Amino acid sequence: MKMIMGGKPVDRPETIDVINPFDGSLVDTVPRGSAADVKEAIAIAVKGYEISRRLPAHKRIDILLKAAAIMKERHEELARTIAQEGSKTIREARGETTRAINTITISGEEARRLDGETIPFDSAPGAENKVGYYYRFPIGIIGCITPFNDPLNLVAHKLGPAIAGGNSVVLKPATVTPLSALLLGAILLEAGLPGECLSIITGYGSEIGDALVTDPRVRMISFTGGVEAGEIIASKMGMKKVGMELGSNAPVIVMDDCDLPAAVASCVSGAFWAVGQNCIGVQRLFVHEKVYDAFRDAFVAHTRKYKVGYQLDEDTDMGPMIEEKEAARVIEWVRDATDKGATLLTGGTREGTLVQPTVLENMPDSAILHTQEVFGPTVTLYRFSDLSQAIDQANAVDYGLHGAIFTNDLNNAFLAIKELDVGSVMVNESTDFRVDLMPFGGVKKSGLGREGIRFSLQEMTEPKVVCFNLRQ
Ligand code: NAP
Repeated sequence: MKMIMGGKPVDRPETIDVINPFDGSLVDTVPRGSAADVKEAIAIAVKGYEISRRLPAHKRIDILLKAAAIMKERHEELARTIAQEGSKTIREARGETTRAINTITISGEEARRLDGETIPFDSAPGAENKVGYYYRFPIGIIGCITPFNDPLNLVAHKLGPAIAGGNSVVLKPATVTPLSALLLGAILLEAGLPGECLSIITGYGSEIGDALVTDPRVRMISFTGGVEAGEIIASKMGMKKVGMELGSNAPVIVMDDCDLPAAVASCVSGAFWAVGQNCIGVQRLFVHEKVYDAFRDAFVAHTRKYKVGYQLDEDTDMGPMIEEKEAARVIEWVRDATDKGATLLTGGTREGTLVQPTVLENMPDSAILHTQEVFGPTVTLYRFSDLSQAIDQANAVDYGLHGAIFTNDLNNAFLAIKELDVGSVMVNESTDFRVDLMPFGGVKKSGLGREGIRFSLQEMTEPKVVCFNLRQ
């Protein structure tokens, strides 16, 4: 596929192979964009902003809703693209496509609600003769950078609100999964988005990232990815707005009073969805000692039923990891844990990019898996007797995106809600739950700001105050 420069498809002599991670087969190629390409895209986006900021709301709504309609018609093609270039099974990819359509639809709906309010100037002595209001205006060019694990919906979460707010965009998708982003870009253009308002430049973050992040014409960086890249970007970008959606090693607490079979099913799915390459995937499971053995046995039995294999087969439960080096890293981290005393309950092996779903217990504090984000199909069970201590342990990491508790006691639920240091608390649901309109984001190293269309739209626009000084 070609990349998109100011709405036009563009090739470059050097290309990057897009590989199916299951068997290494070539899916397609994309141009290896350069820093000069990013600069050219930004120059076009400057003109694009003069167009996008003047697009009336009803036009922006039309573009987004029409794009959502085209996505519906091309649902299966989008899902197959997600599955071929990435790790998701075809069933998971269909789910992501449906969510991306929802994200673009809600963006169109929210463009209608981008309002302001009257300001009570007369509440300040001396300002009795002033009347006025504020409304929201777009901030300009938004530089977006997206990860591989939700290659369509996380791109929709950038483009939808940015367009709804009247901004122009230069987006850099993950190098391993650029095709879904390019398809969505083409659909938005087909739906009527003026070409100058959108560029999608493919290329390595290490080569082209700085050109986007450091350019003063870009007024906001909206980044989703790992903490390491997030910190580099934050240190370089200068005076810009920023949205950072980063990683986590999500904790789930299972109380002895909960519906145990429901907790097991929800946590297994939450641990191994998208091969655990999921920022809200279940990584640390704190289980009350009274139900620990029963939970563990059911969890391991359920996990062993998973069919790991070719992601496009309808009956595959878990596909390949995105790259072999990632699969090797996960196995290395499991070995680090078992060498230090952890017990492997199931999994812990791999064939190429296929990693068996892995469950451990007796995790020592010194193991990498205990504190770091694994971003792979690995979950650890911890036994506890006191809820407050489990919450302290859940909080004793650098991350805080989602947390969860399974309980039928409101007091337990409210203690967890109050004390878990995270952006969202799920009750009787694993951490792996999100709807696209909710405020989504974390604390500590899990991020800065919130996504979720209405909330992104606030971040991607600014209030402008209008004040009339009346004679009397
Ligand atoms: P990543 O390695 O951080 O890459 C994310 C994006 O950043 C890619 O497009 C990458 O380009 C680009 N990038 C890397 N270094 C850069 C630099 N110096 N300057 C500019 N751009 C740079 O993350 P990933 O492996 O794709 O995704 C996994 C991570 O994303 C996990 O930590 C996960 O938790 C997090 N994530 C968070 C959320 C959330 O909403 N909170 C959602 C999904 C994923 P290249 O592809 O060319 O390297």
